[in-house]
Amino acid sequence: MGLDVFSLKGKIALVTGGGTGIGFGISKAFIEAGARVVITGRRVSVLKEAALKLGESCEYRVNDITIKENIPQLIKDIEVSVGAIDILVNNAGVHYKAWAQKTSDEDFERVIQTNLMSVFSLTRECAKGMLARSSGSIIMIGSMAGLFGIDRVVAYGVSKTALIGLVNSLVTEYSKSNVRVNTIAPGWIESNMFLNAINKDEARKQQITNRIAMDRFGKTEDIGNAAVFLSSEAAKYITGVTLPVDGGATVNF
Ligand code: NDP
Repeated sequence: MGLDVFSLKGKIALVTGGGTGIGFGISKAFIEAGARVVITGRRVSVLKEAALKLGESCEYRVNDITIKENIPQLIKDIEVSVGAIDILVNNAGVHYKAWAQKTSDEDFERVIQTNLMSVFSLTRECAKGMLARSSGSIIMIGSMAGLFGIDRVVAYGVSKTALIGLVNSLVTEYSKSNVRVNTIAPGWIESNMFLNAINKDEARKQQITNRIAMDRFGKTEDIGNAAVFLSSEAAKYITGVTLPVDGGATVNF
């Protein structure tokens, strides 16, 4: 058996927001592990460029996950033209940095729609095939902001905390059908979202760095490698966990 249990050879993965940052890192790691990957996002130019870099094991679909009525067609299209989806990574997300007192209902709702409601809709649709085939791995991308109190991210933090509740519920319903659901909670990973969030905020940057036991930011490949493990046969008895990939930030918070 050897290291084959860590392989994703022959698997098909859907990675939302796979054209940039963490999603791109996950897609790259999946392909290196032998999977075929479909990446999605709203910007065709970003997806085209990413697909070119990721090579022939990658294809893309332009899709806005907040448009719920398009979800069944997206899944159907992938299942027919690429194949049955073995792995779903709910990576697409938006950040919103503002004090609670400055966060409007519209801002709050926009973040929840993208980071939570769409994740539920897509997961429910994707799980239909997985449950029927008694096989599947679903990964949520959480956040430190979903585990701890952090100021100026109220909507984002709530959306990520809620994912843990979502996973808890799904595990009670999906496990007998061998569909596993886990969360990766990235620490501070170098991506555009992260760099924009701390941009020009030296005090914030210092506060974050103080929390990271390893004293450095993570790379998107760090999240990619964890996602490969959680999606592989090596993790066949792991479901319902939140795995921090954070250079020790959770312990050092
Ligand atoms: P990016 O901004 O690079 O990635 C976000 C991705 O989501 C983009 O590809 C974007 O593509 C896509 N996206 C956003 N909204 C939608 C939508 N409505 N429909 C489809 N796709 C959408 O940031 P990251 O790579 O950092 O973020 C990826 C995930 O990791 C997020 O869930 C984030 O919360 C999480 N995370 C990141 C951390 C970090 O330190 N970087 C820490 C903890 C969690 P497009 O705009 O083209 O639609």
